Amino acid sequence: MNDNLTAEGSALVLFSGGQDSTVCLAWALHRFRHVETVGFSYGQRHEVELRARETVRAEIKRRFPAWGQSLGEDHMIDLPSLGQISDTALTRDAAIEMTESGLPSTFVPGRNLLFFTYAAALGYRRNIFTLVGGMCETDFSGYPDCRDKTLRALGDVITQGMDKKFVIETPLMFVDKAATWAMAFNLGGDALCDIVNEHTHTCYLGERSLRHEWGYGCGQCPACVLRKKGYEKWQAEMTTSKS
Ligand code: ZN
Repeated sequence: MNDNLTAEGSALVLFSGGQDSTVCLAWALHRFRHVETVGFSYGQRHEVELRARETVRAEIKRRFPAWGQSLGEDHMIDLPSLGQISDTALTRDAAIEMTESGLPSTFVPGRNLLFFTYAAALGYRRNIFTLVGGMCETDFSGYPDCRDKTLRALGDVITQGMDKKFVIETPLMFVDKAATWAMAFNLGGDALCDIVNEHTHTCYLGERSLRHEWGYGCGQCPACVLRKKGYEKWQAEMTTSKS
């Protein structure tokens, strides 16, 4: 791994204020001299996650001054039309459940294809050709636009379509939630784990009043269950490795 002294180049991180994209942001700050963030607003049921972005960025600057110097601008892109056409549990008042296709009803078709394409257009204008996202194949959810094959193909398409060599980096692609916690610990120790636990948001229901060992959330929705299981597995692994 590089440290900050040898870091060079720049990256644009798709940053939602959630656990995964926060670890990706730390990963990028560890490797690149200049890092910018981009978020998308598309009528999510809860603005909680978007507010978490600001807090997480501020906390990273406060607790990691060297990273703070590398952390550049934050960009918000408004995509209300995505909410309009997706009609899923995230954007209207429907129950979050598994659908007949085997995907959760929170699925927004092709969402990451659009996000990366917008990020690339922004990166092109800002001279940043490395795009970083927290997509993960090992999730229970199996979103087809989170798969490695999909995103490698998308990187090729963007490279051809913009006539610039773009690289899509997905550091969490083959990592489970426990290993994501371990990665956070390796990158930023207890301070980064505290930021992830206290300030990132995962819960589909936008619940911020219930505090658990693993963070805030309803504790029942698929996102909370995944986060809770990952945290508990990581804790158990740490205990085993110490004994
Ligand atoms: Zn929840």
